[in-house]
Amino acid sequence: MERKLATLFDVSAAKEVISEDDLVAVKIHFGQPGNHRLIRPQHIRIIVEKVKAAGGKPFVTDTTGIGLNSARGTAEKCLKAAVENGYAPETIGAPLVVADGSKGLLGVKLKAGGLRMKEVEVAQAIVEADVLISLAHAKGHPRTGFAGALKNVGVGCVTKCGRAPLHLAKKPQIDPNKCDDCGKCIAFCPVGAISKLDSKPQINPERCVWGCACWEICPKKAISSWPTIHHETNAELSIRTADAASAVINHLGKDKVMFFNFAYDITPHCDCFPFADTPMVPDIGILA
Ligand code: SF4
Ligand code: SF4
Repeated sequence: MERKLATLFDVSAAKEVISEDDLVAVKIHFGQPGNHRLIRPQHIRIIVEKVKAAGGKPFVTDTTGIGLNSARGTAEKCLKAAVENGYAPETIGAPLVVADGSKGLLGVKLKAGGLRMKEVEVAQAIVEADVLISLAHAKGHPRTGFAGALKNVGVGCVTKCGRAPLHLAKKPQIDPNKCDDCGKCIAFCPVGAISKLDSKPQINPERCVWGCACWEICPKKAISSWPTIHHETNAELSIRTADAASAVINHLGKDKVMFFNFAYDITPHCDCFPFADTPMVPDIGILA
């Protein structure tokens, strides 16, 4: 497999894509803790070594997940998950970078021009890269049916603020009848979007950047929960993911983006899930 992957890189368009001293973002999924069916570190290392041989300067990167309290919600937790899953500079041969900053709020708003999304906040380190190499784990997804390159770029290269509207239709609200005014959400919100206006805290939708998931920390379940605010149809997520991917690819230029899809360990759920199921089909191989 390793030898074939090296050959695949050699026969791909890499030599035209990577120029001397290009900063190359090798985008992987760091993997949710508890999920062991991920891209093998030794396969990432082969790509990294090939990028170096082509004159590029690679870094291996991912973004934080939705929700500051989630297992990959901050850069610190992302890096911890990566190392637990075997992704470290010593194993993959390049530095690990969390592309959207310490809390997943660091990015640049770029024009999308898609069917739904006209603007997407793309993670800072992706915006600053000269080349993007997407290493996607091709597998199932509970809402889009399948997850591969589009998800790795459209969902995986954007900030929390960029990701929330892919999944969600509405900003959260606080139900004053359930809220007991404990103040936890006010302290939790990283952008000061929750404050006491009348007798109970309220969310300012203009200031809310959406993806930090204060609803997860409210002890009274007074903040709109995920199922009550996400898009009604699964198709909406697929359409918006493609829109967001187009913003990333248009920014870098389609001649500076490469895609590898690792079609092995093809389980029903994506790498965001904290478990790995039995693969649905035998391994297929690696496509570029
Ligand atoms: S955390 Fe929940 S209960 Fe506490 S103030 Fe916020 S909305 Fe109200
Ligand atoms: S109010 Fe908005 S920005 Fe603040 S924690 Fe909740 S979702 Fe995040």
